Amino acid sequence: MCRVVYSPKYNIGFYGLERLHPFDSRKYGRAWKQLRARFGKSLRKIHVSPEQAVSREELLLVHTERYLKQLSNSMYVAQALELAPLQFLPFWIIDHHVLRPMRWATRGTIVAAQEALEHGLAINLSGGYHHAKPAQGEGFCVYADAAIAVAALRQQALISETDRIVYVDTDAHQGNGVSHAFMNDNRAFLFDIFNAQAYPQNDVAARERLDCEIGITRSWTDREYMLELENNLPGFLDSVSQSPVGLAIYNAGTDIFAGDPLGGLNISAATIRERDLYVVNELRKRQIPTIMLLSGGYTKQSFQLVADSVIGLLERAGY
Ligand SMILES: [Zn+2]
Repeated sequence: MCRVVYSPKYNIGFYGLERLHPFDSRKYGRAWKQLRARFGKSLRKIHVSPEQAVSREELLLVHTERYLKQLSNSMYVAQALELAPLQFLPFWIIDHHVLRPMRWATRGTIVAAQEALEHGLAINLSGGYHHAKPAQGEGFCVYADAAIAVAALRQQALISETDRIVYVDTDAHQGNGVSHAFMNDNRAFLFDIFNAQAYPQNDVAARERLDCEIGITRSWTDREYMLELENNLPGFLDSVSQSPVGLAIYNAGTDIFAGDPLGGLNISAATIRERDLYVVNELRKRQIPTIMLLSGGYTKQSFQLVADSVIGLLERAGY
């Protein structure tokens, strides 16, 4: 059983400004188009669309009041999103065209978490803003969607206060925002495999918070990469799942792809697909409700990498 969460409202784009950042801000829509081409009308049966953007109350489950106030400053948002020209735009334009799509995607992560509890696996075709901290935005991330989704499930009593959370991050960059969001929450167990020489390598506190840390470099081959995952992930999941696990979050960035301008790694398209199927299978065979988030991916092929993995996951689920 599986659900795909997506809304056309996820896609960012106005006046060509989005092209100033390597981020393909329309990769969500492009990936969705690939899924439609493959599954046709039957996609409707498993598609869930968020009905609204995340609310201020939901954001405050993780973020501070002061931070949300900072997000109404064009200069601040331009820095967090690494889009310097934004600082010259009136705030309402930034809010409408850039932040609002991200609030829709953040709500998509909450919806995915709810769907995962019912259906086992739910893929949000966006989200994974793993650099956003409770009181600071950076690295093109402003809303800490993973931590917000966990807090929302707890608030709605959909998981228990004592349930553990598993977080697996295979994006090329260390998920420092997630580390900070769960810094003092020992119910969350964090597994992160990332480029040790890339941003945010100076965030020592974030790395120290990890329960399983694997730093890799550009010289790693496909085979070495998969072996390292296979040698570490099952043991990590076995130890965490000795107590009840409420939710697993799989942050499946595709920026480990060879040639990605920000990832700095050298992994093939076939291995990215293999990785995603492997990680989700390890989680699901332990009966852990799982959400998958897209996170980074900065090449023209990123949408295709995402689509290949999601198609593989849906086919394996029998669709
Ligand atoms: Zn990344």
